[in-house]
Amino acid sequence: MITSDTLSSLDKEDSLAPFRDQFDLPEGIIYLDGNSLGPLPRRTLARLIDVAREEWGQSLIRAWNDHDWIGAPQRIGDKIAKIVGARRGEVVAADSTSVNLFKLLAAACALRPDRRVILTQAGNFPTDIYMAEGLVSLLGDGYEIRAVEKSEIASAIDGTVAVVSLTYVDYRSGEMLDMRAIGAAAHDAGALALWDLSHSAGAVPVDLNAAGADFAVGCGYKYLNGGPGAPAFLFVAEKHHADARQPLSGWMGHAAPFDFEDSYRPADGVARHLAGTPGILGLAALEQGLDLFLEADMAAIRHKSVLLTEAFIALVEQECAGHGFSLVTPRDAAIRGSQVSFRHPDGYAIVQALIARGVIGDFRTPDILRFGFAPLYIRFRDVWSAVSHLSDIMESGDWDRPEFKQKAAVT
Ligand SMILES: *Cc1c(COP(=O)(O)O)cnc(C)c1O
Repeated sequence: MITSDTLSSLDKEDSLAPFRDQFDLPEGIIYLDGNSLGPLPRRTLARLIDVAREEWGQSLIRAWNDHDWIGAPQRIGDKIAKIVGARRGEVVAADSTSVNLFKLLAAACALRPDRRVILTQAGNFPTDIYMAEGLVSLLGDGYEIRAVEKSEIASAIDGTVAVVSLTYVDYRSGEMLDMRAIGAAAHDAGALALWDLSHSAGAVPVDLNAAGADFAVGCGYKYLNGGPGAPAFLFVAEKHHADARQPLSGWMGHAAPFDFEDSYRPADGVARHLAGTPGILGLAALEQGLDLFLEADMAAIRHKSVLLTEAFIALVEQECAGHGFSLVTPRDAAIRGSQVSFRHPDGYAIVQALIARGVIGDFRTPDILRFGFAPLYIRFRDVWSAVSHLSDIMESGDWDRPEFKQKAAVT
């Protein structure tokens, strides 16, 4: 039996508790959606004002050199590298996750020119499949996507597969794949492994190089708290730096952008995977989120994340039994990301009723209620309050109101 006291005592032992004050969270809100859009760090607001007023406003074009705007994609990439088990010089911050997927899927296919299959998981995040579809139709020439269920991934990796493109933590279920085993199976078959870290960077420990990953992409605006539409990132393992080429050969990926040569020559290293001029305001915000993150200990983050998600699962099952919720997320913490999802036929309305009470989670079609637990600012007592509201909404039938059933554009 979990009580409010159980959770209060976990708050007292929480070494990450001081981080909460680093965020500008609205009063009275329990924010369980940092996996969709991380909240605003206090330092980010101050930094954005400074970048706009001083660097842009006063330094003008000189800021590219004087404030090292030009080095920002690599500098920030090196900070992300620390969170995802990459080396310096293997990561850049750039573009969106979707665009980075396109670039690296194309680079991977070009490294395996005699193979025509992009292997992915059925139900992967839509953009991961859509971008592969766009690439396949552009390449023509027999390229195809093979989308299989999780249990069939290993057996589907054969000599026709150029690249295995998977999401490490599933956006709906929160289930984590075995990066090391799948990477090894891909390599045994001569294929490459590309990982989408959107729901993992900053949420769970990731060790790309230990797992033998070839390529990776990920999001800046989720657990990294980089701000709405923040620049994403991409990783290319050092062993591919000389040979990997991506098709969006913009001038920022050129060996010497300011020589203004007539033809493209790729830069050395990961820089060739840049395309156009980076958005400096977005990068500045992302860098603040990362700096805050790097002050925390990843092992402590993971430890608290597991405790938070355990507590939420147990408490929903204790307080909301008989109300039709079924757990989608793995019970085994070893394969669970930092979110908990339940299935319920009235999921959309229930999420809206929660939001009306200040408990912000989200809904993923067709019937999934999804709750993200970001250990830097979620308290154990928030778990208690969120489940109390959920239980009350179910007991009272409060969710069954017409206004909670009107679908908005963004769910
Ligand atoms: C959030 C997310 C994305 C987002 O891609 P954008 O290009 O930033 O819109 C991509 N892949 C996965 C797995 C995600 O969870």
